[in-house]
Amino acid sequence: MTIDYESQRNWDPQTQAVRGATVRSQFDETNEAIFLNSGYVYKSAEEAEGAFNQDIDRFVYSRFGNPTVTMFEQRLALIEGADQCKAMGSGMAAVFAALASHLSAGDRLVASRALFGSCQYICEDLLPRFGVTTELIDGRNLEEWERALSKPANAVFLESPSNPGLEIIDIPAVCELAHNAGALVFVDNVFATPELQKPLEFGADVVIYSATKHIDGQGRCLGGAVLGTQSFIEDVVTPFIRHTGPALSPFNAWVLLKGLETLSLRVDRHCNSAMSIATHLSKKSGINRLLYPELESHPQHDLAMRQMTRGGTVVAFELEGGKERAFAFLNKLRIIDISNNLGDAKSLICHPATTTHQKLSDEDKERVGIRPGFVRLSVGLESEDDLIADLDQALAN
Ligand SMILES: *Cc1c(COP(=O)(O)O)cnc(C)c1O
Repeated sequence: MTIDYESQRNWDPQTQAVRGATVRSQFDETNEAIFLNSGYVYKSAEEAEGAFNQDIDRFVYSRFGNPTVTMFEQRLALIEGADQCKAMGSGMAAVFAALASHLSAGDRLVASRALFGSCQYICEDLLPRFGVTTELIDGRNLEEWERALSKPANAVFLESPSNPGLEIIDIPAVCELAHNAGALVFVDNVFATPELQKPLEFGADVVIYSATKHIDGQGRCLGGAVLGTQSFIEDVVTPFIRHTGPALSPFNAWVLLKGLETLSLRVDRHCNSAMSIATHLSKKSGINRLLYPELESHPQHDLAMRQMTRGGTVVAFELEGGKERAFAFLNKLRIIDISNNLGDAKSLICHPATTTHQKLSDEDKERVGIRPGFVRLSVGLESEDDLIADLDQALAN
């Protein structure tokens, strides 16, 4: 258990991704071991007592600590450049644990309106039941942030780029306003991945991932993570998860740990193909509004390129002809699958208005650009040429 994390912090992220935080057992295995177990044994009653009063640093119970889960947490913390990380069973468990462990009745939360559906439920429905006041605003508009943060607040929650409209939020500017209002900034960084955007460098306090997406990236398991300062993770998040139990399975942690090894290679390939596909689609007729942050036509292209190294893995566009045309297009695709997941090796497409964002009112859909012809394409790792050919044949009448 003696890892020299400080020297590993100086490694290049790709070396961290392959070797960071590896702990070998007494069998000297090459690959990280799966410790698929719930409990641990003590050599003596005294050792058990010491473990429980935290005089002895050791694993006690897998609800709050497991060697394989710890390897995943420490490796992701190294890559993200965060002090510490806590893993959870899903991205939503991570979002909820991060916010609920920090907020109390009477607190104020300000969030951007363009959120993943379940994040919106937590902010708008669930937390208010426990006495938190939530204000949702247009995250693209700095004046709205200024107005909302002219009063004291306790937390700011945002997603950039947003799902599915690929809206970009000025993270450094919002962090400054939030800190002046007394709030911690929580960034759901799923769409950017640890490869393309580092919110902590822009002043954010907490970064949250659904590891289900690009970190696994191969459609195998759910997982989530919360990253932040040592005091936030140890004093705020850890007691919350220790006593409420959103633990990540050691098996899933192992899958995600292996996912980290190839994350940067995969994200690079996803981005190259997404850029080619977006460029190709931008020349086609029948498409009204094509959104890809790396294309100059994206309304917030300059901001996106200040914060992100690439445009991301998702391309969104609106087909002329509304829902009927969008459904016909989806149904004609032969390679690209219809699925609400994203960040996968397989290219996946969805119609947000009738699936992921079905529950939004028509007014809210319009506000975040989810119109009847709007589709979201998560570009996979197949041949770019095959994907373009598939899109072309499905677009042809
Ligand atoms: C998928 C997703 C989540 C939720 O993650 P799960 O692992 O599915 O629970 C949260 N935020 C964003 C932006 C997502 O895309």
